[in-house]
Amino acid sequence: MQISAITKIYKVSKVKRMIEEKLALSIPSPCEPFQPNWKHADKLNLFVKRDDLIHPVISGNKWRKLKYAIDELPKHTSRVVSFGGGYSNHLHALSFVCNELGIPFTAIIRGDYSASPTPMIKDLLSWNSELLFVSKKEYQLRESSEYLLNIKLRYPDAEIIPEGGKQLSALKGVGEIIEELTFKPDYVLVPVGSGATLAGLIPKLSISQHALGIAVLKGKGYLETEVERLLPSSATNWSINHDYHHGGYAKRSPELTQFCQTFAQNNTLLIEPVYTGKLFYAAKKLIEDNYFRSGAKILIVHTGGLQGARD
Ligand SMILES: *Cc1c(COP(=O)(O)O)cnc(C)c1O
Repeated sequence: MQISAITKIYKVSKVKRMIEEKLALSIPSPCEPFQPNWKHADKLNLFVKRDDLIHPVISGNKWRKLKYAIDELPKHTSRVVSFGGGYSNHLHALSFVCNELGIPFTAIIRGDYSASPTPMIKDLLSWNSELLFVSKKEYQLRESSEYLLNIKLRYPDAEIIPEGGKQLSALKGVGEIIEELTFKPDYVLVPVGSGATLAGLIPKLSISQHALGIAVLKGKGYLETEVERLLPSSATNWSINHDYHHGGYAKRSPELTQFCQTFAQNNTLLIEPVYTGKLFYAAKKLIEDNYFRSGAKILIVHTGGLQGARD
């Protein structure tokens, strides 16, 4: 009895390792000191968690969020189905992973890109994904139980993964960002889209550590509720800053565009304007405004996403 139980545990962790090995992922991702030439940055200890280096294709936090969803796919799964926009980092990562693992994948895409496919969509086609372009109106139904039931009828034994990979198991995968650290940061900074990444970090932090989310879209109140809904307990050591969304999701201001360009000239790491550009922009402003106490250890999580900036 005991021996078979141990064998079973061993097999599970071996399967997990096999996926990470097969995809040649750099896990744990590197954590690097960061010394920008920003005013007051020299009074702080800044680090960047390089989740953008996990894999050349699979975008950083999207792997964290998908890891357990992929690991825990039921044996009889015949197909994976998910949702996203025409530049989606989530669809991009998931399509690549499914193709590598030999699982058929269907992407339900908001809007019709058949006449002018984005680089993301071209990649999905090259990875043998099935693409379904749907109207904005139909796309709004993506969480309704009736719509999901119809997908199940069309594709029996399909596993449906929500937009952005924001299923509950995403939090467990994201939490590993903190488990990989060899020091205890006072602040952890991440961009906030759906809030799942922020929510995944919080349970892994102690009460003296603060998770600071930077909203990339207009969602004051709404985003806080989303994070609270995902959190297993009522933690209070987190907050979301709403000052740096630059007009909304995928919107950008001339300042942000300028910032991303200057950043590329002065640093070896790359950022893009939808998520990480807004994150580093906010970090710079907060540091210049002396938001953090002198000597604080600040971890900025580079969540990847550079593929989405191709045109
Ligand atoms: C999706 C994404 C985010 C947002 O993550 P959420 O869990 O939805 O808040 C942040 N950064 C990048 C690069 C992303 O692709």
